[in-house]
Amino acid sequence: MSLHDIKTRVSAACIAAARDPASVQLIAVSKVQPLERVVAVLEDGHRLFGENYVQEAAAKWPDLRARFGPVAVHMIGPLQTNKAKVAVDLFDAIHTVDRPSLAEKLARLAQDRGRCPTLFVQVNTGEEPQKAGVLPADLDGFLKDCTAMDLPLYGLMCIPPEGEDSTPHFTMLAQMAARVGLTGLSMGMSGDFVAAIAAGATHIRVGSAIFGARDYGPR
Ligand SMILES: *Cc1c(COP(=O)(O)O)cnc(C)c1O
Repeated sequence: MSLHDIKTRVSAACIAAARDPASVQLIAVSKVQPLERVVAVLEDGHRLFGENYVQEAAAKWPDLRARFGPVAVHMIGPLQTNKAKVAVDLFDAIHTVDRPSLAEKLARLAQDRGRCPTLFVQVNTGEEPQKAGVLPADLDGFLKDCTAMDLPLYGLMCIPPEGEDSTPHFTMLAQMAARVGLTGLSMGMSGDFVAAIAAGATHIRVGSAIFGARDYGPR
C-alpha cells in the first residue's frame, strides 16, 4: 500500500457512505517508523501525522517542521500528566484525554497559553481492564467535570478490542458523541478504517497500511 492507495480507498469509502471525502481527515501514524518513510510521505505532500510517544515526537517533528513547513501532528497514545506541558506545545490535537488529573493539567496549561490543542476524550468502549479510556458509564460525569474546568472538547476516540468486529464499537462511539453534542469521531485504523468511515469517523488513524509494518526491534 502507499499513501496514494489509501487516499483512494478513503475516498471510495466516503462515496459508498454518501459522505463528502473532505469530512474525513487521514492521520498518517508515523510512530516507530524509520525517518526515511516519514520523509517520503511528507514529500508526497501529506501534512497530518499521528504519534504515540511524546519523546519520540519531540525528537522528530521540530526538525521536520523546520524542513517541510507547517505539519499537524496529533497525539494518539496514552499521555502521562508529567508530559502534558511538552504535549500541549508540540501537538495540534490530543486524542487521549481519559482522566480527571490529565484534564485538570490540560485546562491549566490552556489557560496559561490562551490556546488549546483540539481535544478528544478516549472511551474504552470494550470496557477492557488493560486499556485506557473513560468507561461508557462514566462519560457524562467526566464531560461535566471538563466543562466545569472550561476545557474545550472536540470529540471522542476509541480503539476497539483486538479480534472483535469494530463496527459495534464505532456505532456506539458515534451514538455517544451525538448524544453529548460532540462533533469529532477519532476511530478506524489500518484494518478497519472503511467501517469507521461508514459509521461516521471524522479522523482515521492509519499507520502500517501507509508506512508498512512497524519494527519495534528487540525490547
Ligand atoms: C498505532 C496506532 C494506530 C495505527 O495502527 P495501524 O494498525 O498501524 O494502522 C492507530 N491508533 C492508535 C491509537 C495507535 O496506537
